[in-house]
Amino acid sequence: MEYRSTRGKRQQTLTGAAAVLQGLAPDGGLYVPVKFPQPNFKLAELNKLSYQQVAKTVLQWFFDDFSSDQLNSSVLAAYGDQFDRPEIVPVTGNRAGNYYMELFHGPTLAFKDLALQVLPQLMTNAVKIQQMKQQIVILTATSGDTGTASMRGFRDVAGTQVIVFYPEGGVSPVQLKQMLSQQGNNLQVVAVKGNFDKAQSMVKQIFNDQAFNQQLHDRGAQFSSANSMNIGRLIPQVAYYFYTYGRLVSRGEIKNGEPINFAVPTGNFGDILAGYYAKKIGLPIKKLICASNQNNVLTDFFKTGVYDRNRPFYLTNSPSMDILVSSNLERLLFMIADENEQEVINLMEQLQQNGKYEISSAMKGQLGDFVAGSANEGEISQEIKRVFDEAQYAIDPHTAVASSVVHRYQQESGDKTPTVIVSTASPYKFPETVFAAITGASVNQTGLPAVSQLNQLLQDELPAGIKELFEIESKREIVIAPERMEATIIKSVNDRV
Ligand SMILES: *Cc1c(COP(=O)(O)O)cnc(C)c1O
Repeated sequence: MEYRSTRGKRQQTLTGAAAVLQGLAPDGGLYVPVKFPQPNFKLAELNKLSYQQVAKTVLQWFFDDFSSDQLNSSVLAAYGDQFDRPEIVPVTGNRAGNYYMELFHGPTLAFKDLALQVLPQLMTNAVKIQQMKQQIVILTATSGDTGTASMRGFRDVAGTQVIVFYPEGGVSPVQLKQMLSQQGNNLQVVAVKGNFDKAQSMVKQIFNDQAFNQQLHDRGAQFSSANSMNIGRLIPQVAYYFYTYGRLVSRGEIKNGEPINFAVPTGNFGDILAGYYAKKIGLPIKKLICASNQNNVLTDFFKTGVYDRNRPFYLTNSPSMDILVSSNLERLLFMIADENEQEVINLMEQLQQNGKYEISSAMKGQLGDFVAGSANEGEISQEIKRVFDEAQYAIDPHTAVASSVVHRYQQESGDKTPTVIVSTASPYKFPETVFAAITGASVNQTGLPAVSQLNQLLQDELPAGIKELFEIESKREIVIAPERMEATIIKSVNDRV
C-alpha cells in the first residue's frame, strides 16, 4: 500500500507509516491511498470476529508496512477496558425505526475515541518503522471532541506531546470540563478567540509554514496531526462499518450481502468518508446519508454541486458539527475527480480565494452514493423527544441530527432499506439539550449538575468517563488571540522537548 497527496503527483508516494507521522502533506493536501485495497474477505466470516479482530483486519488492508504483531498489540491496547462495553461498539435493535451504532463507549464518550485510542499506537510503531528521532508534536484544532480524545489517547505516551486549540465559547460545558480535566505531563490546551474554522485554518497554516517547521526541527521536534485529516485517524473508522454490518447479519436483522444505509452526523466529513471507504472496498452499503445541523454547507453541496462557505456561522447545540470548511471533503473530491490532482488544486484555490467552488457535472454525476439533509435546532429537539417517547432511548443532539434527517428522508422517499444511525456521542455529553428536549422543561443548570439532572431522568448507570469528572479538579481556561498560537507552540515545545 502506498499513499499520495490529493494535491501531489501520482508518482510522489510514501508509505502508510510515513503518512501517519506526517499527518498533512506539505503541499496542503491530504494523504490518500494510491490504490484502494481489494481485500478478498468473506462477509459471512467477518461476522464471527470481535471488534479487535475486525479493526486489525481493516488496518492490515491499509497499512501493510506495519507487522501483524504491531497491529495486534495496537488494537488490543486501543480497544480494551477503557471502553465500558466489551463489544466496544454496541449496535441497538430497531429503535423507533432504525438501528443505532453506539460509538460513544470510550473514555471521552464520543466516537473520536475509536480512532484516537489507536492512533498513538500507530504513531509509536511508525516512529520505529521510520527510525525517527524527533519528538512528535500533535497539533490539534478541535470543535470539542477531538481535543479531549487526543489528549486522552496520547497522555504520557513517550516521545509525543499534544497541543490543543479550541474556539473560546464554542464547546459545550461538559466538553470544556473534560478538556480542562485531562491529566498528563505532555498535554497543553488553549482557547482561541474566533470560531472553529478560524482555529482550524490557523493550525493548517502553521502546519505548512516551512520556516516554523524548521524552528521546531532545530528544537528536536516535528509536527503531526491527530485531526481527521490524518489518514491514521480515518482508516480505523472504517472498521466499525464492517463490524456493525456483521453484528446485524449475525443477529438475523439483515441477510448476508443485503445492502444497508448508514446515516452520519457530519462536520469535517471524516466519519462519513470512512463509510465511503468501506463501501469502496466492498461492504454492501446502499446510501450514505450525510446529515448536517444548521451549518448546512454540505447539504447544499450535495444538492447543487456548489460548495459555498460564505454564509452565517451558527453556534448550535451540536457544536462538534459547527463547521463550514469540511476538510475531508477534499478526499472525496479527489475520488470523484478521477484522482486528478490538478482539479483538486483548482477547487481548493477557489475555496481559498472566493470561499466557494462548483464541481463539474462529471463529478456531480458521481455523488449518487450520497443523500444529504439538515436539521435545525427545533427539529433536533423534536427528534430526541420522538425517539425517547417511542423507544425510551436517549440520543445526543449530534446523533439526533442524523436521526432526524433519516426520519424525514424515509418518509419522503419511501426508502425501506435497513438503516444504521451513527451515534457519535453519549447523551451525557450534552445533558442540557437532551434533558430539555425530553421533558420540555428548560434547564437552569449546566455542566455536571445538568448531568446529574439527566441521570435522574434516565435512571441508568453514569458512564465512567463522566463519573471521573466529578472527582477531578480541572485547570483554569487560558484564552489567546489567534496571533499568539505560534508563540504558544514554541513555548510548549521549549518546555517539553
Ligand atoms: C466530530 C464529531 C462529529 C463530526 O464528525 P466528522 O468526522 O467531523 O464529520 C459528529 N458528532 C460528534 C459527537 C463529534 O464529536
